[in-house]
Amino acid sequence: MLKKGNKLYSILTGSCPRCHEESMYLDKNPYHMGKIFKMHERCSHCDLKYKIEPSFFYGAMYVSYGVGIAFAVAAFVIANIFLDASLVEAFIAIIATLIVFMPVIMRVSRNIWINMFVKYDANAKTNLKNS
Ligand SMILES: [Zn+2]
Repeated sequence: MLKKGNKLYSILTGSCPRCHEESMYLDKNPYHMGKIFKMHERCSHCDLKYKIEPSFFYGAMYVSYGVGIAFAVAAFVIANIFLDASLVEAFIAIIATLIVFMPVIMRVSRNIWINMFVKYDANAKTNLKNS
C-alpha cells in the first residue's frame, strides 16, 4: 500500500511530493521540537522548491484543523467506547492526544498541504538530468 507514487507515501513519510526520493525535512523526527519546521529549500533529486510562494505553509493551518479533529474523534472513540471512559475522562484523553501528537499533526498537515499542489511525477528526476 505504501509505495512511491502514492500520495499517502509522501504524506506519511514527509518525502518530496514530486519525486518521493528524499525527506523534505532536515530532521525526520517531528519530536525534535527545535527543528520541527526546518525544511530543505529544494529537493536535491527533482529540484522542486518546497516553499512554492512566501508563507506557503500558513495554509497548512487549515489542514491541521481537520487533522486535529480526526485525532480528537479517534481519541474520543477509543476512550469512550473501547475503554468505557466517562465524558470527562474522554475529554481529558482528547486534550492529551492533541498535545502528544501535536508535532505529528503539524508535520502531516504540511505534507497534505503541499501534496494538494504538487503531483507525483515519476519522471521528475530524469527530466532534471536531461535538461
Ligand atoms: Zn523531489
